[in-house]
Amino acid sequence: MKIAFLGLGQMGSGMARQLIAAGHDVTVWNRNPDKSAPFSALGASIATSPAEAARCGAVMTMLADDTALEQVVFGQEGILKAGHDILHISCSTVGVAFVERMTRSHAEAGQRFISAQVLGRPDVSAAGKLSVIAAGTKSDLATAQPLFDAIGSGTFIMGDRPVMAAAAKIATNFGITAIIEMLTEQVRIAETHGISAQAMVDLLIGTDFGNRLIRSYGPIIAAKQFEPAGFPMTLGRKDVGLALSAAQGAELPLAELIAARMDAIIAADGGTQDWAALGQPITQ
Ligand code: NAP
Repeated sequence: MKIAFLGLGQMGSGMARQLIAAGHDVTVWNRNPDKSAPFSALGASIATSPAEAARCGAVMTMLADDTALEQVVFGQEGILKAGHDILHISCSTVGVAFVERMTRSHAEAGQRFISAQVLGRPDVSAAGKLSVIAAGTKSDLATAQPLFDAIGSGTFIMGDRPVMAAAAKIATNFGITAIIEMLTEQVRIAETHGISAQAMVDLLIGTDFGNRLIRSYGPIIAAKQFEPAGFPMTLGRKDVGLALSAAQGAELPLAELIAARMDAIIAADGGTQDWAALGQPITQ
């Protein structure tokens, strides 16, 4: 398939290489042209502007942020200037309001637009093993599927509006920050008692800790099925209290936040629901 790829940074360079390796007819563009040059030797064509690149009919973007996309989509030589019947597949992690604006503007220009945000760091991108979080019309997603297959190991369709993939990606990244903080605090409690950080991490990895939790609690949260409680909020509060005291004064900001939240829930409803209800609105 003919595809233009705009944005050859840490993530985009790996994605573009995978598209070429999969046999697609790739045209690349990057703001700093030094990053485009090596792609010539791999068989890619080099474009001198986003609009020129997009005229091949389909264009993927992997740019830093809203500002970068603003210039590449709405600029003088931007994708919107490329003409009708062009499919833009936006992979950058950008704001939902901006994605809604791009959706409208592409439609007004007679172009098609879908979102395909990705999960995975640059090494995963280089290996073609990204997880693709996509949203858009069924036919545009079907057109893009061979591209998703080239850059990723799985595609997760969030819905028919591009903003849905952007929101899912933002939610996922928020989860990563929470997990980083959680891991740090788990290691901090262990270290307080002379357990090495590595031994604690080995325990978590060896027991498939994080994945097991998501498999176990994800369906309960999705169904909002908090009663009968497998583990009531009151007992959960006891354990967060145990963690706070085991840390012997070391900072556990996430644990403090959770303890305060649980206190408010228990004050409101007695704490009889499962602790999986931690993030639900508090009702009297
Ligand atoms: P990066 O290495 O910093 O690359 C950024 C790209 O955006 C470069 O091609 C850069 O061009 C271009 N760019 C920046 N400002 C621009 C502008 N004003 N006009 C035109 N082009 C501009 O970043 P990255 O790690 O590849 O990340 C790209 C996107 O993927 C981001 O939205 C990021 O949040 C998301 N993401 C990153 C990761 C990760 O682990 N790194 C994982 C998943 C998703 P120049 O080369 O000219 O500077």
